[in-house]
Amino acid sequence: MKKTLCKGARKCRLCGTHRGIIRKYGLMICRRCFRLVAEELGFRKYN
Ligand SMILES: [Zn+2]
Repeated sequence: MKKTLCKGARKCRLCGTHRGIIRKYGLMICRRCFRLVAEELGFRKYN
C-alpha cells in the first residue's frame, strides 16, 4: 500500500494539521485557518 500525499490527504493546506478539516468550498483547511480565510471570503463567524 502506498500513501497518497497529495490528492486524498486530508490536512490543512495552510498549517498542515489534520484536525477539523473543512472541505466545504474546496478549501481543505482546518477550522482555525478557516476563520482567517473566511474573513477574506466574506464569511462571518461561520462555525
Ligand atoms: Zn490550518
